[in-house]
Amino acid sequence: MLKWLDVSRGSRLLGAMTEDEILMYAALDEARKAASAGEVPIGALIFDPSSKTVVARAGNAPISNHDPSAHAEILALRAAGEATKNYRLGGLWLYVTLEPCAMCAGAISHARIGRLIYGAPDEKGGAVEHGPKFFAQPTCHWMPEVTAGVLADGSRDMLKGFFRAKREKRSNL
Ligand SMILES: [Zn+2]
Repeated sequence: MLKWLDVSRGSRLLGAMTEDEILMYAALDEARKAASAGEVPIGALIFDPSSKTVVARAGNAPISNHDPSAHAEILALRAAGEATKNYRLGGLWLYVTLEPCAMCAGAISHARIGRLIYGAPDEKGGAVEHGPKFFAQPTCHWMPEVTAGVLADGSRDMLKGFFRAKREKRSNL
């Protein structure tokens, strides 16, 4: 079934999307759900490329969970560990809508994630291509294959819209 989807700036045919884009689109859906719960819109998904199945998906939830570590990636890693009954997630791929922070990059490394695919770069809090560049440090003992910039506009637009709405709400008080 072909379906039109509104992806960032303009619609594209689902059939014309790459596998990475389809999975990132699903991660963006988690980000959208997080935003409607008042959380910063970031979504993550863990995919098993050998069976072509989505193992776990999660949205950012530190405010709702009263947990500073409840980033989308951490929640997805926990759910994937639970689903596979394994603390190592070697061979699995993690999709996330924004460049991971240092905490999440550390957890991705501990989990032995095989491939990390992210959307928008995060100049302020990112730790893959910015800041500590976690995976490039000699103290990092596992680095996933990294693909950056998948549906980056969709992620960036969602974050910008979220913060713009927040500012407008504040200035209307
Ligand atoms: Zn994080």
